[in-house]
Amino acid sequence: MSTEESTGSESGTVGELRDDDHWIIERSGTPVDVDGFKMGEPADHIICAHCFRAASHYKQVTHAADCTNPDAHTT
Ligand SMILES: [Zn+2]
Repeated sequence: MSTEESTGSESGTVGELRDDDHWIIERSGTPVDVDGFKMGEPADHIICAHCFRAASHYKQVTHAADCTNPDAHTT
């Protein structure tokens, strides 16, 4: 039996790749009394799937200079 079917860690935050493959929606890996979000609920962050920078809104992400996300350089 495989015990490593998830890329997320046992504790902390995990993410879910969006359909466009460019962004990861962060999900809470802790109970609501820890970070204000229920376990598995979308947390208030989104992560660039190309450079892995996070922000509360995708337009606020400070991408790496060599980030290949096509959304990184749009307004
Ligand atoms: Zn990026």
